[in-house]
Amino acid sequence: MRSFTMTKTIIKNLLGGPVTLMYPKKKRVFTEITRGRVETDINKCIFCGLCSRRCPTYAITVTKDSREWQVDRLKCCACNLCVEICPVKCLSMKNQYAPATTDKAGGIVTVKLEDTTGGR
Ligand code: SF4
Ligand code: SF4
Repeated sequence: MRSFTMTKTIIKNLLGGPVTLMYPKKKRVFTEITRGRVETDINKCIFCGLCSRRCPTYAITVTKDSREWQVDRLKCCACNLCVEICPVKCLSMKNQYAPATTDKAGGIVTVKLEDTTGGR
């Protein structure tokens, strides 16, 4: 029975096309639940730091004083915990991956809440 299953798999693989895509000519279609990269709506963020404390790979840094939220996408394992824990739901998982980089710091993204009060 096992050899039959294996033969079936071999024939299927021999007759089917390659499983890889000719990227960038042909791009993969992501599903709605694909965990690509974490995004923040900084205007909703209250800088509580919960996402940073919960992140298992220490990918997030929150600086309350300068009102900055930072993620190192090269450290992120797309576990979604930060999205689930955020009390104001300002984090989301976009179904697109971050651009490739060869620089260690190339995955760091900093989002800063600009002062919209005019200094008041
Ligand atoms: S958990 Fe949400 S509100 Fe708190 S710092 Fe992180 S992104 Fe901002
Ligand atoms: S998805 Fe997981 S690993 Fe990535 S930043 Fe959020 S908590 Fe950290």
